[in-house]
Amino acid sequence: MLLRGVLILLVVGLVVWMLSARARASKRPRSVPQPEAFVRCAHCGVHLPRDDAVIDGASAYCSEAHRLAGPREPGGS
Ligand SMILES: [Zn+2]
Repeated sequence: MLLRGVLILLVVGLVVWMLSARARASKRPRSVPQPEAFVRCAHCGVHLPRDDAVIDGASAYCSEAHRLAGPREPGGS
C-alpha cells in the first residue's frame, strides 16, 4: 500500500520534472549561433562575424586596410 503511493508520487514527480525541463529548453534559443551575425568582406569576400567586421555604411570589411581599399567589383581585373 505504502509502496504504491510512493511509486505514484515518483511517477507524477518525474512527469512534472520532464515537462518543466522541456519548457525550459524550448525557451532558450540563445545557444544557437545566428547566421545573420556573419558578414562578407566587400573587398576580398571572406566571411567573418559581424562583431569582428569593419562596417562602412552598407558594406562590411574584414579589416581597416580593406575598408580603405574599398569594395572590389566582381569580375573586374
Ligand atoms: Zn577583406
